[in-house]
Amino acid sequence: MEVLSYSQAVGFALVPEFIEWEVGEEPIAFADRAGFFMYDADAAYVGGESENVLTYYYKKDGPWRYMAILDSISISRVILTENQAEEIALRLKLMAFVATPSDSLNRINTVLDRLFRAYHGHDPLTACNECDPAQAREDREFSNRLQQR
Ligand SMILES: [Zn+2]
Repeated sequence: MEVLSYSQAVGFALVPEFIEWEVGEEPIAFADRAGFFMYDADAAYVGGESENVLTYYYKKDGPWRYMAILDSISISRVILTENQAEEIALRLKLMAFVATPSDSLNRINTVLDRLFRAYHGHDPLTACNECDPAQAREDREFSNRLQQR
């Protein structure tokens, strides 16, 4: 398995010498052997299954301070960065791998909107005494104030 580095100036490049990923090894075990500590993770869920999992690691010192592992169904990729600025740039670049498809989000929103309207008989973005008493009271007070003018 190839290990890549990332920097904004160079982009992605092969890292010729790094520890080998052993067959069947979990990403976190590999990172641990390389001296990295996990601090964050992102995952894309498609149909309830996680398709791509991104885990992020840091190391206190060394030429490489940060590591990201993209673990998908078919392949794992290791990407190293030198500092936090490059790590953030890399995370922005990798976001596409873990973005929930907007299609499925839109579908979920439509279904929830319809359910809400069926139960409450009003638009989900407005409030009634049942679903949001505090907001409903505020709305009433606001329209009262408007009428008093
Ligand atoms: Zn309501």
